[in-house]
This record gives sequence, C-alpha cells and structure tokens, in this order.
Amino acid sequence: MIICDGCFYDKEISSIIKSVSRNSGVCPTCHKHDKKLYDTDYQNDLTPYFEDLVNTYTPEELLPPSFPAAEKRRLMDDLNERWQIFSDIPYPTQYEILRNICSELYASTPSLFDGLVGIPELYDDLYLKNHMLLRTNNWDLFVNEIKTVNRYHSKLVNLDILEKYCSFIRKTYKAGYCFYRARISEKEGFDINSMGAPPAGKSSEGRANARGITCLYLASDLETTLHEVRAGVFDFVSIGKFLLKKDIVVVDLSAITEISPFTEGLDCLDHAINMTHLKKINDEMSKSLRRSDSTLDYVPTQYIVDFIKSIEHNGTREYAGVEYSSTTNPDGYNLAIFEPELFECIAVDVYNIEELRYKAKKI
Ligand SMILES: [Zn+2]
Repeated sequence: MIICDGCFYDKEISSIIKSVSRNSGVCPTCHKHDKKLYDTDYQNDLTPYFEDLVNTYTPEELLPPSFPAAEKRRLMDDLNERWQIFSDIPYPTQYEILRNICSELYASTPSLFDGLVGIPELYDDLYLKNHMLLRTNNWDLFVNEIKTVNRYHSKLVNLDILEKYCSFIRKTYKAGYCFYRARISEKEGFDINSMGAPPAGKSSEGRANARGITCLYLASDLETTLHEVRAGVFDFVSIGKFLLKKDIVVVDLSAITEISPFTEGLDCLDHAINMTHLKKINDEMSKSLRRSDSTLDYVPTQYIVDFIKSIEHNGTREYAGVEYSSTTNPDGYNLAIFEPELFECIAVDVYNIEELRYKAKKI
C-alpha cells in the first residue's frame, strides 16, 4: 500500500516518512499532490512505532475479568479517540493503512485489529500509582488537597513524571523575539519603566505565581494582551512591546495535548494514562477566573509552575517560563516568565478601547 506524509496528522510519523521516502508525487491513498511517498510493501521504518502503539492494547479474550465491559472498544475507535494520528481520511482507509504497516502483527494477532480491545493498566491500581502524573487519578482530589489540606508538600503529584513530560514540550525562543504586555492606564499612558512585572514582594497572585513572587506575564500579540488585561470599553490601555534579550527555553503547556505517542523516550502506555490530566493543566492555566472565583483557585497551577521553575540541569534553571493557551483569544497564547530581566520593554503605545463585543450562550 502506498501512503504519504500527508496521510498523517502526527508530526513524528510525517517526519519519518519524509526522511525515508524514495519517491514524491500524488498519494493514491489520501490523493494529496506533491507528497513524499512510502510503500508499506517494501519499507518497514514505521512498523516498530505502530507495533509498539498497538501492543499497548490487549485483545478482549486476554483482558482480566475485572476489566470494565463498557471500556472495551475497537482498536480504530480507541486510537482515534485517544490520539490524532491520521489526517482527514476515511476510517476504513485508516484501518487498511494500520493493517499494512503492521502486517506481521496482524497475521499473528488479528483479534487486536478486528475484535474488541482494552488497556488493562488503565484499571490496575498498582500500575497507576507508579505511572500516573496524579497518584489518585483525580484532578479534583488534587485541587482540594492543595487548596485546603496540604499546600506545599502534596504527595499527589508524581513530580518525576511531570518533569519528564516538560522535556517533551520544550520550546525555544531566540533573542530578539517580541511579546506584549498591557496595563490599563490613563490617556497619557505609562512610561517604559512602569510596564514590567511588579518587583518581588509586591506582586499580587496570578495563575503562575503566588503573592510576592515576581513573574512577567506576556502575550503573543496585541489582541491577546487586551483580552488578558480585561480591558473595558473606553478604557485607555498602555501596551508595552517586550524584546527578548537572550535565547530561552520554555515549557509549552499548550502543546501538551499534541505530544505524539511516537515521541522518542515516551512510553505510549504511560502517555495514554496521563493524557487527561496533562490536558487539564493547560486548561487550568488558560482559564479566565470569574469575578466570584477566589484566588485560591490559582493555587493548583501555581504549584505546578513553581515545580517547573525548580527544574535544574547542571545546577542552572532549565526553563525560563511556561507558555499556555489563551481562552479569551484562541489564536493567541501567553507566557509567564520567571525572570523579568530576560526581557526589555522597548516601546509603549496607548490604545483607547472603542468597542467591545460580547458573545453569550444561554445556560
Ligand atoms: Zn497520503
């Protein structure tokens, strides 16, 4: 079967195809033009990756009796629900691709592909305890403990696992990159020196910092920063442009759901187990607080970001900050930078908010 890099959404798989492809042209499977082609009859570079993934599943007849019946699925259904591997191609074609890549595994264990399957470790308490990011497998329990029981020494987060995941979502920014930060101001605006983060000891709490801990919040563009500062109509807003002074590495939480199950060094079984909680971390970071919410709601993400801040390599801090999605402006993203001195505010412009658009949904 001839497939191509465009048959896959997964970046790891696409890049493997690109690197081993011997021909280019129209893909007979997804019909895209000018693609790098891969022939499953003559090439087997993808096979070990897919065999590893498929082998995280157990066919129905070998699942333990305690495995919940409602959680048994067809392999293709579960793969599509859990991972974004294939691009927009029909289901039966995806099945054919998988069967052709894993032809030997299909010959030896067809029930993996054609019958119902499950991941038994998802219901194995001992396995979960050792491999889960959240030892209780419950985000709400973690939130409750950290807010009301034990703030600084919670044992509920498996920090080794969190550190490992951070290494899969590293993102580098080169010196010279610019970000933005807004402050609601008067018409005259703030001067350049007043646009940075409040000094240590004076800062109020945020999603990524506890009260007193300094942190520079930046946004990818003007619009995101206006959303994040929650500017009101007729407000004047000073927007500072911040220039990065040296190369930095941040943890990109917004990429957490896009970690490929084929990433080197990553166990796809562990990833399957932790996916939900990883997604939760970015969701919580991006969430806008309602007026009625308490600053206590910031504590879980403060805990996680503080841990990321503490990660070191050869005695120096590994990450300069964290990046997370913006829910108020989905096209943009935010950065929380641990050391404000890494950036220099190079310009300030004052904007007048002329109009706001509300979008509401009846509940
Ligand atoms: Zn294709």
